[in-house]
Amino acid sequence: MSGTLYLVPTPIGNLGDISQRMADTLEQVDFIAAEDTRVTVKLLNHLGIKKPMTAYHRHNLDTAGPAVLNRLLAGESCALVTDAGTPAISDPGEDLVALCAGAGVQVCAIPGPCALSTALSVAGLPTARFTFEGFLPQNKKNRRARLEALREEERTMVFYEAPHKLSATLEELAQVLGADRRAVLCRELTKLHEEILRTTLGELAAEYRQREPRGEFVLVVEGAPPQEEEQADLDGALARVEALRAQGLSLKQASAQAAAEFGCRRRELYDLTVGKR
Ligand code: SAM
Repeated sequence: MSGTLYLVPTPIGNLGDISQRMADTLEQVDFIAAEDTRVTVKLLNHLGIKKPMTAYHRHNLDTAGPAVLNRLLAGESCALVTDAGTPAISDPGEDLVALCAGAGVQVCAIPGPCALSTALSVAGLPTARFTFEGFLPQNKKNRRARLEALREEERTMVFYEAPHKLSATLEELAQVLGADRRAVLCRELTKLHEEILRTTLGELAAEYRQREPRGEFVLVVEGAPPQEEEQADLDGALARVEALRAQGLSLKQASAQAAAEFGCRRRELYDLTVGKR
């Protein structure tokens, strides 16, 4: 009979978040598949656990994945541990879970620390429906396309971001989703210098024009207003365009002014007025 793959979350910054079940599982399995064995050995030392480890990370998953699977199929049990947080959430654990589940191996998830749920719960934005976007694509074109696809997204959005890309991401998000969009930047969650900035995308972009991003970040962004509300705004804005034109403004000027007053896009007002849509 095959063994079980245990998904063991680890603290995202605070060792106090180690759970009894997590420690017991690490103690009981036959071996640990770790994203970075140097990181995991520190955790094991802290817990006083000695256990054989094998490396499983994004650069070796094509060979390490099948090797772990074969050991599971041969009856060994394995704990999958990533550098921090819940395995398989925006890390290579995702592939190992798919591989093992596909081969009929039992996969057991142990609940625990996760940057996504920690940020979402503390943000103070609607949580009933949300979308986890993880890391945005690195490629400029794909990244822009992804952001454009999120323009009308009504659910709260959660992004992971690396510090060296944070400023550019904030600028781009403010540009595409609007500077007034409410957003919460969660930095160094559960750590000594934890910081939660509840403001707007525009303010966050401005803040990180002057400040060097340090640490780890999750960004939570409010969803777009529901369509009906948008339509009402658009109707109001179109009426305003007509009123401004009647006062002698050009279509371009009227669209720009109405867009600023109603918080919608100038180009859209312009196009709708000339009947291009
Ligand atoms: N699987 C992990 C999880 O869900 O918690 C996430 C792994 S992902 C490779 C790493 C990203 O998680 C970081 O770039 C950052 O966006 C986020 N993150 C991890 N720890 C964090 C912390 N303490 N504070 C804020 N963000 C964190």
